[in-house]
Amino acid sequence: MTSRPFTSLPLNARLLANLATLDYHQMTPIQAQSLPHVLQGRDLIAQAKTGSGKTAAFGIGMLHRLNPAWLAVQGLVLCPTRELADQVANEIRRLARGKGNIKVLTLTGGVPARPQAISLEHGAHIVVGTPGRIQDHLARGTLDLSNVRTLVLDEADRMTDMGFYDEIAGIVAACPQPRQTLLFSATYPDDIRRATASFLNDPVEVTVEAQH
Ligand code: ADP
Ligand code: MG
Repeated sequence: MTSRPFTSLPLNARLLANLATLDYHQMTPIQAQSLPHVLQGRDLIAQAKTGSGKTAAFGIGMLHRLNPAWLAVQGLVLCPTRELADQVANEIRRLARGKGNIKVLTLTGGVPARPQAISLEHGAHIVVGTPGRIQDHLARGTLDLSNVRTLVLDEADRMTDMGFYDEIAGIVAACPQPRQTLLFSATYPDDIRRATASFLNDPVEVTVEAQH
């Protein structure tokens, strides 16, 4: 397969310069297949194995649409575990370096909710979290999702396996339309396909097969 550089995408010059400082030059296959659609604002279902660079595939798209001058939760990423949420938040912070002061907040269980609520009061551009804790903050009225423009379901198969479906459906319903919805998963079996179909609007589907 021919490789494609990030510079072939219609990205902001500062974002491109930051990618170069991270030593991200060529897109990985899932990035090359996803990003052109993501940057056009399409909904997307992307299937690729772990370690294929899925975080940047949605993180770059989310940052591209984000208005740094507006301190409101414009992007929401749901992850199955606290560890994955921390990893995703850190990767988005690295990707965001070129874009001014972007606040990325993680909201996961295992730590008290009150300090998270205080951080939310101070404002965030992007929230990364686990469905249970995000649902908690919605119920308490400490998280406002009415300005979300990009919603990401990361590792959707694992989140569904872990029994988070009801929380996810509630959170998706709290995100306004129009919005962009991106679903990333290592596998995409029929039950998850049926369960998530209503979250997405005319999605493009891309799959990167495992290398043999
Ligand atoms: P996935 O979510 O598919 O498991 P990650 O997003 O965690 O994969 O990325 C895996 C690793 O690849 C990370 O260490 C990330 O920094 C690195 N990476 C992602 N995209 C690129 C790229 N275009 N060039 C170089 N390294 C990359
Ligand atoms: Mg990942």
